[in-house]
Amino acid sequence: MAEHSERPAGTTKTRDLHTAFAAELPERANRPVWNALRSACLERFSQNDRLIANLQLLKESEPYDLALCHKWLSEFVANIVACNKLVRWIHPLDPLSAEQALESAYQMLQQGMKDQAQRLLKRVGKRPGRGRPVVRRELAIRALELKSSDRTATWRAVAARLCPCGKRTHKGCGERIRLDVIRLKAILRKYSIQIPS
Ligand SMILES: [Zn+2]
Repeated sequence: MAEHSERPAGTTKTRDLHTAFAAELPERANRPVWNALRSACLERFSQNDRLIANLQLLKESEPYDLALCHKWLSEFVANIVACNKLVRWIHPLDPLSAEQALESAYQMLQQGMKDQAQRLLKRVGKRPGRGRPVVRRELAIRALELKSSDRTATWRAVAARLCPCGKRTHKGCGERIRLDVIRLKAILRKYSIQIPS
């Protein structure tokens, strides 16, 4: 027989969504685009924390306002959907973060360990059929950051600076990064995320 939880309402001490996310993914130095994506997530988590609190209050209100409840729940769900899309650009989703992997890969490449670097990069955020690999997203964010600080840099130069493929010529890499940056910009536009210049 199922037992009732002995927990009276209102006594649970859980961190709110905003605090939990902010602590798990702290701001990064010199990463304006990454930080803007993070802020956009945090803003929505804050909204949802407020919505949860409001819905709690609503439960006790008399008469029960069903229309308002629906409105707040739709806002809550819309925020979750947005966060789900945004988080995939910045959250490691893997014990090894894309940022760490990329840094390690750069070091391996410098020491001529190309195969090891490729193996490492393939391991990160591997979730078959679920969006673009997380390293490519991290690379796109860095590429946009680089382009924002140096508008004259060509995609080829961006690839030469950032691409971890290990090939000397980076044939096609600049174009691939450019297309990933277009996808990133679409997300930024969709959620009205401004990059501080
Ligand atoms: Zn390359």
